[in-house]
Amino acid sequence: MMGFTSRTIPASLADMAHPSHPRARFMRAALDDIGNALQHEEGGPFGACLVQGNDILALAHNTVLKEKDPTCHAEINAIRLAARALGRHDLSGCVIYSTTEPCPMCFSAIHWARIDIIVYGTRIADVEALGFHELHISNRQMQRLGHSPVRLITDFMRPQCLELLQQWQAQTHGVTY
Ligand SMILES: [Zn+2]
Repeated sequence: MMGFTSRTIPASLADMAHPSHPRARFMRAALDDIGNALQHEEGGPFGACLVQGNDILALAHNTVLKEKDPTCHAEINAIRLAARALGRHDLSGCVIYSTTEPCPMCFSAIHWARIDIIVYGTRIADVEALGFHELHISNRQMQRLGHSPVRLITDFMRPQCLELLQQWQAQTHGVTY
């Protein structure tokens, strides 16, 4: 039967959701990228790492404030960088690591890019609590309602991603939008 069962994560992928997994380095790279940029207050405390096989194609963080562009979310920035690097719009076979669950705009871009898997740390509700103007639509709902083949690995390295949000609150003026 096609449907929800076809989009659930196989056991081998679920194993990825542990911080000791070798792929934890990709989330660590996303965390480091935004962590290093935090003091410049270029945008919200969000990072993304776009991966093909064992290679990082793009590392990006949110630059909404720096660019004065509300679409410059980490995931959008990473997709633009990776697509340019590969010279194509189709990112099939890639995995995107997001420190926070992608918003509906980014989920849509990820779907259009045909990225296979989203791995995220904190949830939309976590950053809404910080004051961000979030839409109340989870990736699980986007996947289900849109019949998207994108697969999800949730709560990956959640404690480390929560730590980033706390660091942002403590070290910056905490500008939200
Ligand atoms: Zn977004």
